[in-house]
Amino acid sequence: MFSEKMTSLGSNRSVIREIAEYGWKRATEIGRENVFDFSIGNPNVPAPEIVKETIIELLNSTDSMTLHGYSSAPGMLCVRKTIAESINRRFGTNLTLNNIYMTSGAASSLTISIKALTEDDDEFVTFAPYFPEYTTFVESAGAKLKVLPPDTVNFQIDLDILEKSLTPQTKGIIINSPNNPSGVVYSEETIKSFCVLVAKKEKEFGHPIFIISDEPYRELVYGNVKVPYLMNYHKNVIVCYSYSKSLSLPGERIGYIATSPEAEQSQTLFAAICGAGRALGYVCAPTLFQQVVEKCVEATADISIYERNREILYNGLLEMGYEGPKPDGAFYLFVKSLEEDANAFCEKAKKYELLLVPGDGFGCPGYVRIAYCVTTKQIEKSLPAFAKLAKEYKK
Ligand code: PLP
Repeated sequence: MFSEKMTSLGSNRSVIREIAEYGWKRATEIGRENVFDFSIGNPNVPAPEIVKETIIELLNSTDSMTLHGYSSAPGMLCVRKTIAESINRRFGTNLTLNNIYMTSGAASSLTISIKALTEDDDEFVTFAPYFPEYTTFVESAGAKLKVLPPDTVNFQIDLDILEKSLTPQTKGIIINSPNNPSGVVYSEETIKSFCVLVAKKEKEFGHPIFIISDEPYRELVYGNVKVPYLMNYHKNVIVCYSYSKSLSLPGERIGYIATSPEAEQSQTLFAAICGAGRALGYVCAPTLFQQVVEKCVEATADISIYERNREILYNGLLEMGYEGPKPDGAFYLFVKSLEEDANAFCEKAKKYELLLVPGDGFGCPGYVRIAYCVTTKQIEKSLPAFAKLAKEYKK
């Protein structure tokens, strides 16, 4: 009577949600301050003040139709123009408003882009560790997702494995840097050789291979680390952006798709994106928040709070004997489980009220994700619990 696929998707709860729900229950029993909940990537740093000021100003100065009415399907012209100009200014590209399609966050940027590209028998490739929703997004578009095994030495892209995995059916490659769950940023060296390989394979297969760059964490980088802008290295690029993390607005559902003006048949690509947005029933991105991001286009939440958390947590864990890549971005730490089975390790961690997520769901067993988008006080308070957990394995 119902779609079997959808029923199964709706009934199988995500591991992350399950752990978070356990955390909420535990908080009512022992107090929120005594639960070290590192499960969910919900930004704890408030949206910058300029977001609040802009909302108030818009509410006081703009008519109701412009504020709350439908916008055109790809988004308001002035908003798309401002975003295109901002990207050009920061990354030296040549985008126009006709390369920008406003969306309800990265998830819809991805579903729309994947649907726009997919024809029968198409395959998409991604690299573990990866955001598990990619499987749902790709399969619901009717394509297949090939997940390549992780490079657990550097957490970069293993080009040899990639070369062997690309086939004439490959329509696109989904990359995510800064990465959820590892926090790793792909270096310029990695991106350059990756793009050379993709271009070589495009030539060999005689058709484009689109790089879909999933970038909700682009602005969350620490120190002098730079995140290469893919359009400067490859022609066939679609950037899936979101303000969920950069402006701490995940509940407002606002982001965009940027297509490369140099992509093959770029106008047709944009038409396919408009068609996919229509078929998926998005109608238009939230109009009020389109106008908010126009006015806050280069603002970010206070990233220094995440950087401080990273330093305290990473250095603290390293001293206790935990191992993992030092994250250059996002707000996740990905450490080796202290026993082979990360699920069993996460169960043991619960004894110390530590809520961690096993890496299995991200395609990287033997690791755990720690989302440090929590208060610095909570990080500091959690360190003795991590120490007690580590001690259990030293006996
Ligand atoms: N892609 C990655 C890698 C993510 O981590 C997330 C959310 O956490 C998303 C996409 C979806 O982001 P949004 O809230 O903008 O839809």
